[in-house]
Amino acid sequence: MLTYKGRFDLTRFEDLTVTVDFHCHSACRFCIVQEGMNLFRGVSLERLRQAVDDNVKHRRYRRICFTGGEVTLEKKLFDYIAIARESGSFEHIRLQTNGRLLADMAFARRLVEAGVDEYFVSLHGHDAATQDHISQRPGSFDEAIRGIANLAELGVCLMTNTVIHSLNVDHLPKIVQTVLPFRPVRMEFWGYIPMEDYADTLGFLVPMRQVVLRLREALSLLRASGTEARVKYVPKCLLGDFADQHDDAQPDVVIAERFFDPYPNFSCIYEGICEHSDTCLGLSHPYINKFGWEESLLQPTPRTRPFVEPDDGPAMGSDRPGEGVAPALDHPEWRILVDGVAERYGAKLSAVQLTRRSCVFTFVRGESSVEFVLSARDDKAPALARTPSFNLHYRAVRGPDREVLSALIRAAAEAVALRDRGGRLLDRRKGLIGAEAFRRHAREPFG
Ligand code: SF4
Repeated sequence: MLTYKGRFDLTRFEDLTVTVDFHCHSACRFCIVQEGMNLFRGVSLERLRQAVDDNVKHRRYRRICFTGGEVTLEKKLFDYIAIARESGSFEHIRLQTNGRLLADMAFARRLVEAGVDEYFVSLHGHDAATQDHISQRPGSFDEAIRGIANLAELGVCLMTNTVIHSLNVDHLPKIVQTVLPFRPVRMEFWGYIPMEDYADTLGFLVPMRQVVLRLREALSLLRASGTEARVKYVPKCLLGDFADQHDDAQPDVVIAERFFDPYPNFSCIYEGICEHSDTCLGLSHPYINKFGWEESLLQPTPRTRPFVEPDDGPAMGSDRPGEGVAPALDHPEWRILVDGVAERYGAKLSAVQLTRRSCVFTFVRGESSVEFVLSARDDKAPALARTPSFNLHYRAVRGPDREVLSALIRAAAEAVALRDRGGRLLDRRKGLIGAEAFRRHAREPFG
């Protein structure tokens, strides 16, 4: 059973992650970008400028996160940060890092002064023996802890990320005890997902029964200390009292498109009957192949509304460390394209969902609804109508008022044709493709 969610459709389209490079000085045994190292190129400064310029005009994203490989190794890192900061269009600038170079206080301070206000530091062990074994780099634990201590001293937003696998599953509570003295805003725990070793020959996958035992202990410690937690790629229904800390969403990512080719799919045997299946991915296919569907372990919550397979994942608001999830952006720049149309037909515009590839307006009239979709202009693709920036479509017509909805869609198309003066960016492709994506002399990916 393959769900509509498949890979990455639970996307926070208000948070943008930019992959700056694919080098690293650690070699974590479970690393999901291992195959991409030394193969893909990062996003160029020019590409970043395009995305930032678009954000200045249309305010899609609230946060930009720079990642790698190990982002702090990038020589032009401060140029990337400056482009984001000088645009003034992001509320937050985040780094995702192994924290090792932050052991140098001068470097950490320079990053903070450059405008990076959120730090997402990977920590996979509670002590040097565990972490250095996982990272295959002696000294990496001590460096990361010094980096974390420096960030705490600088008073920035500190978050940690721990990937749960067989080498650290029994140490999750101890990892929390190691980090808590540095007063993190949040600790995240992500279930391990193989990107290449689908048969798990390396034995990193852990049965969920064992994962949740240790994970719940770790989450209890965090709750007792008043620290926020987030859990990804572990079923929501297995978290018990901590289900509110489940969050399978990821930011929108600019990265080599082929990076996602080997990304595993997810499914849940209870997808059609569980209330949470819109936002809980369930189990990865490599996990299901190894340990089965876990039908006696999972605890679906009966649905209170019929299961409707949506064309896109649900609209996810932006991440707000320490405060939960921000309400989704209203997108006034896009809303204005159809402003006033719904009211003429006794309907209302109930949602504007802006993704990288489309802008979806949901119109509701009593029991009836329809989605009006703008995608990038493509003269070869079928469309209801075209405007300078867009192809126009509709979909998901529901309820009895089809004639009224049909007139409403025609009026919406006319409104967009009048108001769209061109220049609105809806990329059809998610990231880097062709030569732009690969290093010179790179071998054929995933071959
Ligand atoms: S039953 Fe499935 S969809 Fe529901 S919470 Fe559990 S894993 Fe998620």
